[in-house]
Parts: sequence; C-alpha cells; structure tokens
Amino acid sequence: MQTHSSRISGFHNLPMADRLAKLVDISGLTPDAAEHLANTGNLEAAIADSMIENAIGTMNIPLGVATNMIVDGRDVLIPMATEESSVVAAVCNAARQCRDSGGFVTSMSGSLMIAQIQLTQVPDPEFARLRILEQKAQIQQVCDDTDPVLLKHGGGFRDLEVRVLNEARGGAMVVTHLIVDTRDAMGANAVNSMAEAVAPLIAQWTGGRPYLRILSNLADRRLARARATWTLDAIGGEAVRDGIISAYEFAHIDPYRAATHNKGIMNGVSAVVLASGNDTRAVEAGAHAYAARSGQYRSLTHFEVDRDGNLVGTIEMPLAVGLVGGATKSHPTAQVVLDILGVDSADQLARVFAAVGLAQNFSALKALATTGIQKGHMALHAKNIAVMAGAVGAEIEAVARELIARGKVRVDIAEECLQQMRA
Ligand code: NAD
Repeated sequence: MQTHSSRISGFHNLPMADRLAKLVDISGLTPDAAEHLANTGNLEAAIADSMIENAIGTMNIPLGVATNMIVDGRDVLIPMATEESSVVAAVCNAARQCRDSGGFVTSMSGSLMIAQIQLTQVPDPEFARLRILEQKAQIQQVCDDTDPVLLKHGGGFRDLEVRVLNEARGGAMVVTHLIVDTRDAMGANAVNSMAEAVAPLIAQWTGGRPYLRILSNLADRRLARARATWTLDAIGGEAVRDGIISAYEFAHIDPYRAATHNKGIMNGVSAVVLASGNDTRAVEAGAHAYAARSGQYRSLTHFEVDRDGNLVGTIEMPLAVGLVGGATKSHPTAQVVLDILGVDSADQLARVFAAVGLAQNFSALKALATTGIQKGHMALHAKNIAVMAGAVGAEIEAVARELIARGKVRVDIAEECLQQMRA
C-alpha cells in the first residue's frame, strides 16, 4: 500500500487542475486515472470548484427517468439520480399499477422551517422563557430584516416557540424555535442567519449563554403527503394486497424491519432529491427523525384496505426542498431536471417527491410479499455483475442475459460466460 502524508499545505488555494496534478503526483495515480478525473463531464470544472472545497473532479451517477407517474392529475416524468439498479423500475411499475385509479394525490402542510437557539446557564429558565416570548415582535423584526429577499417572496418569520429542556447533569437549557416560512428555498442558510442575529438579544434579555444557532432538520411543519389506490385487478388479487399489508404491519411494529422499509422509500426520494440539486442528507435526517416521533421508529407509509377492497397507501414525511438555493440553481443538470419535472414551486416539488417515495415503497413491498426482492433486483443487477466480471460494450447485455437464463447472477459465473463468449 502506498503511504504518503495527507498534510498538503495550501491545497485549497491551488487552481483545480493543479490540485489534481498534486494529487496524482502524491498518490501515484496512473496517467489514465488522472485523465479520467480531469474529465468532469457535463459539470464544468469551474462550477464544481465553486461548489465545494478542494474539488479535484466530479462523480457521475446515472440519471434515469421514471415513467407512468400521475401526480394530482398531471402526468410527470421523474428524473432520478441513483447508482442502485432497481430504483427507477420500481417507480415505473408502481405508477403503472395505479394509473387507472388516478395516480397520486398530494398535499403539503406548509413551508415552515425551524431554527433553534440553544441558551445555557440560565438560572431561571421558566422566567427566561416568558421573557423571550414577550419579545416576539422584536424577534420578528430582526428575522425579517436579515432576509429582505425572502420577505419579498412572501416568506419570513411566522412564529416563536420556547422550550425548557432538562439536562441529564441537572440544570436546564432554554431552546428558542424561530418558525420561518422559507417559500421556495430549503431555507437552511436563511434561518441559520436569523438564529445568529437573534441569539445575542436573547442572551441580553435572559443573562443566559447562547451556543448552537442552527436549523432543525426535523422539518415537521413542512410535511409532504401523498396517497394512491391500487385496485385488486391492477395488483393481482387479494393475496398480493394482504401480503403488502402484512409487510407494512411488520414495519409498523418492528424497527429492524422499519429501517429497511424506510430505506426503500428513500431509494426513491433521495434519487429525485439528488437529481434536483437538493440536500439528500437534510431530507434523510428529517425522514428518519419523523419516523421515530412516537418514541418507536416506524414506517413512513401506511397501507390499508378501502371499502371496495382496494389497497390504499399513504405517506407523510418532512420534505425540506427548494427550487432556489444550494445547488439547485448552480448545478446545470439540476436545472434541466427541474424543467423535466415541470414544477413551479417548492411545494409542488416536495409533493412529487412524496409520491415517488410511496411508489417506491409499494413496489418493494409487492416484490417482497410475492416473488421476493431478488428476482427483479437481480435481473437489473446482472448488468453490474457482468461489468464486474470485465464485460464491455455489447458483452454486458449478453452476459447479463446469460446469467438470468442460468438463474445464477454471480460474478464467477459471469466470468465463465465471458470466457466462453470470447472463445
Ligand atoms: P440559499 O441561502 O442559497 O438560498 C435561499 C435564499 O434565496 C433565501 O434566503 C432568499 O434570500 C433567496 N430567495 C430568492 N428567491 C426565493 C424564493 N422564491 N423563495 C425563497 N427564497 C428565495 O439556500 P437555503 O435554501 O437557505 O439553504 C440551502 C442550503 O443550505 C443547501 O445547500 C443545504 O445543503 C445547506 N445547509 C443545510 C444544513 C442542514 O440541513 N442542516 C445546514 C447548513 C446549510
């Protein structure tokens, strides 16, 4: 193994090409590897360099388009950025099976974000709480003055909450929530700036010491909802329906299952969030925290039987995403993705994302409750295995087909197929 020092003084000051050259030099990369990294594809090097620190290249992920989706009566094509083979197909399948019953109906609780200000060393926390609440008008003024552009777009401060939290080592901290409408922005920077502006005032009013001033990713005032109906004819009968409901029940009562259940939902949601240039980690954190809000980690979706015996599914989850801010405007692919989605507000965007999460979950549960996940998964995964075995060009498809025909999607078998083909 190559050893070298990771201490590279002034690395971040170098132009991107020089940074890459330095990396190649230090880590002994081959000229081919260097050339590979230097090709930034359709994300210009200058843009990549302006997005993060120490950029040396870009990482391409396939962008697929899920078909068949109807959201609130509108046909929508869903661009999804993902490295996992079965994700796009799952959305297409679920959406096809509920098209005749109208597709997905969605709604949103609002576009409110919460910024937290942590105040410690307060001798009289309950007294302090009321003193802060009394200053709502001034707090509103300070918040709104922080972001006049947001105000112009109809957003701004909406409400104030102050909580007293008991610390494990005794004492209490006073936590102020600024509730801010961030409209078409995810709003992290917007509300973080507000929290930083308000904190010194809170310290002055209470004599406490402010520490953390940052948004909460548990965006439970920004819940996106989607529902859909799958008829028995569309899904293949009662046994399939009951299998899906039983799978859902399993996730509702068992965190071990719920983690995988919700991971499947996020397969879909994170892929569209990423494609749109939004923050996948923010959405993931919000989703999982919301799933645990009862004290037990549970499913983000629900499945039931309606009065006609159909399968009905619902999802409700925090979805703090934007059309402006972050990489949504700076990443050229994200801009094209937003054009394909054809949405004109963050509200619509989040609602489509929720529908994608529900679609993804339906397909996963259906596969699990019937043929098992591996059949569909492996058919798509076979191409990855073929590539792993060294297949190139037309060989990939041919090897994948052979693996599926043999019912053994394994890299050793792929190597064997490849050798035979080449011979
Ligand atoms: P931003 O600050 O880049 O853009 C938002 C700003 O755009 C608003 O504050 C407003 O001034 C302006 N704006 C213009 N048109 C608007 C409209 N129609 N509606 C609303 N605002 C409009 O971005 P942001 O949304 O405040 O923050 C998102 C970024 O913050 C993401 O990149 C995210 O990764 C990052 N971030 C996330 C966290 C976290 O999730 N914990 C923490 C810090 C930063």
